[in-house]
Amino acid sequence: MHKDLIALRHALHRQPEPSGAEADTARFIAKALRATKPNSLVTGLGGHGVAACYDSRMPGPTVMIRAELDALPIPEASGVPYASERAGFGHLCGHDGHMAILMGLSGARPKRGRLVLLFQPAEETGAGARAILADPAFAALRPDYAFALHNMPGMALGSVAVAPGPASFASVGWRIAVSGREAHAAFPETGQSPAPFLAQLTHHLAALPKGADQAMATLCHLNMGAPTFGIAPGQAVAHVTLRAVSDSSLSVLEHDLQGWIAANAQGLQIDITRHDHFNATLNDPDAAAYVEAARHSLGLTQGAFTFPMRPSEDFGAFSAHAKCALFFLGAGDDHAALHDPAYDFPDALITPGVAMFQEILSRVTG
Ligand SMILES: [Zn+2]
Ligand SMILES: [Zn+2]
Repeated sequence: MHKDLIALRHALHRQPEPSGAEADTARFIAKALRATKPNSLVTGLGGHGVAACYDSRMPGPTVMIRAELDALPIPEASGVPYASERAGFGHLCGHDGHMAILMGLSGARPKRGRLVLLFQPAEETGAGARAILADPAFAALRPDYAFALHNMPGMALGSVAVAPGPASFASVGWRIAVSGREAHAAFPETGQSPAPFLAQLTHHLAALPKGADQAMATLCHLNMGAPTFGIAPGQAVAHVTLRAVSDSSLSVLEHDLQGWIAANAQGLQIDITRHDHFNATLNDPDAAAYVEAARHSLGLTQGAFTFPMRPSEDFGAFSAHAKCALFFLGAGDDHAALHDPAYDFPDALITPGVAMFQEILSRVTG
């Protein structure tokens, strides 16, 4: 039992910060890392990112292990004694636990090559991993292998699931602004309402064929007109999230939807902006094999999980730059779901999480 790491997680849990605003969390992590005497410590990476590098000074691969700094803008209702002290925010995805697991690796020097512990910002919005990759300070830390875990409610506690190939979906948020012209509610035919177009769009999205690329679209938000009875609306905004199993399938979905909108705009002005873009995560066969070998040698059960995971994970952005593997660590069959107000990361996962990464590291650098 890692009592110190459990205490560290609870301290992080009390002070959740949303994506892009993880200043206090980053400071806390950097201080704890500094005490483990890394060969280098980089702060302010792609925003509030922190990375510690432990160098064996022997030639070998650079192995990066990643955790996330951010929490969610959801009020916590877990009832735990160390619950959020920041109103409106909560560590409801377990990133506090992922950080505690990484801290369990701090100070470990591999036999060969280097270990990089990366605490990345803004995972929930999909911006963080790409910001890390774009930061010139990351060049000196470029990994050959990159590993990450996510805890997974609904999967047996402490079980591990990994597979080569697609691990999580690509996704992108579209903000669709529709402009027509307002009119007196008694003469709607003299204006141009976005309503008929939006009704058609809603139907079209729900009826998208479920092909092999599992492309889908979810209407998340719709706002039209003003709450009056005297005005026929002229303006509307819709938020739609598009998902598919690969980056290329997502591009096809975006292209097709753009075409459909252009063909059905009925003279309305339609402006689309893209937000929260996540790459698909593609597990490299070699990296996934290291994870599976580690699970087997530690005697952990194989988790029942159907790959890929439909939600997105911005760890996918690293797939194009290193041999990556994202694996899932079961949080318990009846555990509250991720992003549920009652969710809390199970402390029992810290020990197997640390052991998995230690085993992976010693296999890759052994
Ligand atoms: Zn999340
Ligand atoms: Zn998460």
